Order: sequence, then structure tokens, then C-alpha cells
Amino acid sequence: AKAEGRGTYRFFEPAMNAQMQARRSLEIDLRRALALKQFDLAFQPQIRLETGQVTGFEALLRWNHPERGPVSPALFIPLAEEIGVIVGIGEWALRAACREAAGWSQPASIAVNLSPVQFRGGKLVETVMNVLAQTGLDPARLELEITEGALLENTDSVLDVLNGLRALGVKISMDDFGTGYSSLSYLQKFPFDKIKIDQSFVRGMEDNAECGAIVRAIARLGASLGMRTTAEGVETPTQLDAIRAEGCTEVQGYLTGRPMPAAQAAALLSPPTAV
Ligand code: C2E
Ligand code: CA
Ligand code: CA
Ligand code: CA
Repeated sequence: AKAEGRGTYRFFEPAMNAQMQARRSLEIDLRRALALKQFDLAFQPQIRLETGQVTGFEALLRWNHPERGPVSPALFIPLAEEIGVIVGIGEWALRAACREAAGWSQPASIAVNLSPVQFRGGKLVETVMNVLAQTGLDPARLELEITEGALLENTDSVLDVLNGLRALGVKISMDDFGTGYSSLSYLQKFPFDKIKIDQSFVRGMEDNAECGAIVRAIARLGASLGMRTTAEGVETPTQLDAIRAEGCTEVQGYLTGRPMPAAQAAALLSPPTAV
């Protein structure tokens, strides 16, 4: 068995090596990306269904590598979390997003994603407080998006951090709702300001009655708990009609606006000047 094991190992070795080398090389690049100013933010509009107005934007991290080109957040964020550099990158994103929003012509909201890793180390509340002070952004305009991953760890200390953030006057959103394990108990433990319904449910609505039922249930749950509900990933007019009918309060998706450069987001908030 030992010999067979060794043989098997040798058989897979070249492929494993290539995969590990690719990861190692991405890791090296990721460790220096912040210092080399390779990160940028894209801003995706969030629209209130009742009025059709843009209420704010979600800041989405972009890594433009000189040779690799744009690297997907789905690829580099998990790696950044694994090697810990997400703490610095996340703080950069928070500061850049708040600085940008502070310059807008309207007091629209700015949503920033927080990694579960940023909840460790006991510095998050202080960091957010400093960024608010440095950028002069009204805390009420900042929405911090957290996933269930952040809540899974040590519930007591996470609740302390969330209450500390809330005390600063910022809003807290539950992101990717419905994809984790015990979403409902979290809603009971912490009063989120907003629930973001995961795009997998929205995408499934057109040909899957169960998805529609789930979206409706979450929208009603939000309404009865006094939380706003944002449907994510809306791409078609049919999906928009459906999430409206189910009672969601906000929409964010390619149909109503793709993630865009900062200048374009700012322009969307400024009425065109008369010549
Ligand atoms: P998320 O927070 O759920 O962000 C929404 C993602 O859905 C974004 O992908 C956005 O571009 C995409 N999206 C929005 N509307 C549509 C649509 O109509 N159709 C489709 N197919 N996609 C849509 P993106 O920018 O690639 O980000 C992926 C994930 O990376 C985010 O998911 C979030 O979990 C993470 N992420 C992005 N920026 C940050 C950040 O600054 N910090 C942390 N910790 N995570 C981030
Ligand atoms: Ca998000
Ligand atoms: Ca989401
Ligand atoms: Ca997501």
C-alpha cells in the first residue's frame, strides 16, 4: 500500500506542482498589489423600487494586474483572506469608498464589504471610526455588508463588534442572505438594517417557483422586522417585475446598472448642468 501510495503521489506530482506554483505566484503578486497601487473600486448603483431613484452604491474591489489583467474578486479575495492581506486591502477599500462618497453631490449611501477576517484582532471598530473621521463622511451614509461567515466564528465577540459599529452610526447589511446555515437565528441576534437576497434566488425565479417563494418569504420577513430588502443580481425586466411583486424594497443588478468607475457613479448623482 505504501509503494502504491508513493506511486500515486508521483503520478499526480507534476499537475499538483503546476497548480501550487500558480497559487504561489498569485500569492506573491497579491502581497505586493496594495503597495503597487493595483487596486481600484467599481461602484454599482442600488435603486429604491418605490421611486426608481439611486439610493447609493456598493463599492466592489477590482485588481488590475499589469500582466494578468483584471483578476476576479472571486479568485483573489479567498486567497487574500487565507494569507491575511485582506485586512490591509479591506481597510484601503473602506477608506477609498468613504473618501469617494464624501465628494458626491448628493448624500447617497455607500456600501462596503467586510471580510470575516476583518472581525478578528479587535481593531475593526477603531478602523471604521478613524476612516469616518479622516474622510468626514456622515456615518449614517455608510453601510457595512457582512456575510454569515463573519457571524459563524465567535458569536459573542462578533455581536460586540457589530454593536460597536452600530454605535458609530453606521448601517449593517446581511449580505448573500439565504446561502449560509443559520441565517434566521442571526436576524434574531442582531438587528440588521438591510437584508441582501442572494442572486442565486433571483436568478432562479423565472423557471423555479421555489425561488420565487423564497424571495417572497425573505421580503416579508424583512418587512415585518423593519429591515429593507435588496434583490441582488437582477438582469432581466421579468426578474425586476417579479421582485417588485414579491415586495423587495431595493434592487441591485446589471439591469439597473453594472459596476462602474468612480467618475461615472458621481456623474449619475449629479443632474446635468444647463449650458
Ligand atoms: P457580493 O458582495 O455579493 O457582490 C455582488 C457581486 O455580484 C459583484 O461581483 C457584482 O459585480 C455581481 N453582480 C451584480 N449584479 C449582477 C448581475 O445582475 N448579474 C451577475 N451575474 N452578477 C452581478 P464582484 O464584483 O465580482 O464581486 C464578487 C464578490 O467579491 C462580492 O460578492 C464580495 O463577496 C467580494 N468582494 C468584492 N469587493 C470586496 C471588498 O472590497 N471586500 C471584500 N471582503 N469582499 C469583496
Ligand atoms: Ca456585497
Ligand atoms: Ca451579495
Ligand atoms: Ca457573494
